[in-house]
Amino acid sequence: MRVVIADIKGRGGFVNKDTVVGGYGSRFRGFSWTTRWIERLRKLYQNVPSIHAAYLAAIFENAGHQVRVTRDELVDGDIALILSSLVDYRHEIEWAQEAKKRHGMRVGFFGAPATHMPELLESHADFIIKGEPEQAAMRIASGEMPKGIMASPAIDDLDSLPFPAWDLFHQGSRHAVGRSFWASRRVFPILSSRSCPEFCTYCPHRITAPYRARSAENVVAEIEEICARHPQPYLIFRDPLFSEERERSTGIAEGILRKNLNVRFECETRLDDLDKDLLDLLHRAGLNAVTFGVESVDPATLKRVGRRPIPPEHQREIVSYCRDKGIATEGFFVIGFLTETVESIRATIDFAIDLSPTFALFKMLTPFPGTPLFKHMKSLITEVNWEKFDGYTPTFRHPNLSHEDLRHLLGLAYTRFYVRPSFALNYLGIKTPIETLDTLMHLEAYTKRRQVEEDHAFFEAHASKAIDQ
Ligand code: SF4
Repeated sequence: MRVVIADIKGRGGFVNKDTVVGGYGSRFRGFSWTTRWIERLRKLYQNVPSIHAAYLAAIFENAGHQVRVTRDELVDGDIALILSSLVDYRHEIEWAQEAKKRHGMRVGFFGAPATHMPELLESHADFIIKGEPEQAAMRIASGEMPKGIMASPAIDDLDSLPFPAWDLFHQGSRHAVGRSFWASRRVFPILSSRSCPEFCTYCPHRITAPYRARSAENVVAEIEEICARHPQPYLIFRDPLFSEERERSTGIAEGILRKNLNVRFECETRLDDLDKDLLDLLHRAGLNAVTFGVESVDPATLKRVGRRPIPPEHQREIVSYCRDKGIATEGFFVIGFLTETVESIRATIDFAIDLSPTFALFKMLTPFPGTPLFKHMKSLITEVNWEKFDGYTPTFRHPNLSHEDLRHLLGLAYTRFYVRPSFALNYLGIKTPIETLDTLMHLEAYTKRRQVEEDHAFFEAHASKAIDQ
């Protein structure tokens, strides 16, 4: 059988799919000069292929089928499995319709929208895979005719899966968190565990299947295989919580060191799952960057959405230790939790600046289908276009803030974080404290004063306006 795996390149803005937002994907469109600059950089340097597509490619190839992977070209085949996203699903449907019309292919979707919102896709497909896609792919590969909604239970023993078939992916990919913009290393996403054992009610990472992890030995064997084919790779661990099990993450780092594998890598985790000893070991193994959620500075806000707060002192200690070791950091922040006010959002922005990770990603609270938050907020949702559930667009009626307020505060967060000399010093790895650099210190104070004045002027001008959704 000729199998096409389609990971269609998103259109409009910087589109990220697959493991991003639990598979719903995000679309970043610049809405100010700061964010337009960030959009350009992301398009250039965060071009990473889909890991689930690579798993499916391996399953079909191992079963003796002829496999082609495409990012946009309409290639010929008997069957196409298309990665679905929420932010670009109409584009993916168009591709499916063309594949059917021009090549008579049997087409089906997999991914988070296929799993949680099959009604969006089913009239355009011969089959929909509901759940993590590997189990259903194995059945199709061994001869089952795919049709209708195909339940695909999560595989418990992740070590039993083949390694992703990256050799079938021809596009180069670039990625950078930190200062490695010019690195020529080829980039590979890697999943050493799936899902998350935490209970954050807004999070789509945990809604498709329960948390499971691969053994350290199995992960190291995959890295060894990548290194044998692609010298000095850059690996992105796409686990929502890479260091959830300390022993396993130390096992991965020790395996990399024991086998002398020349890799650089980054991972995402909770900061309370990191300590200095673990960071030292991971750094020796090649850790280049850590990404982590902060979400809000306010513990009460976090508790209301089921998130365990992490003491600010610990967050500061870990971010500062990473800075000293040359490990880049990126913090994630959320704007618009239901109890928030202008003041509480300003406090979170201040905390982001004070914490001073290398990068900060601010997103709008978004109620994603399948999450407990979605159920809770259903009556507040005003947006009817699912593609606008992109993480940056207001989609619901907030009790205290209009859509315009929310958009303003999101823009303010980016401007305040990125338009300041201390961001540039941090990014360039210059450790001299800004307080000792007179001119820059004045510039820092001046930019802050201007930004704060503009922020206050915005709310004075909008004070009399009613919430507009
Ligand atoms: S810690 Fe919370 S936000 Fe992060 S992946 Fe787990 S459930 Fe999601």
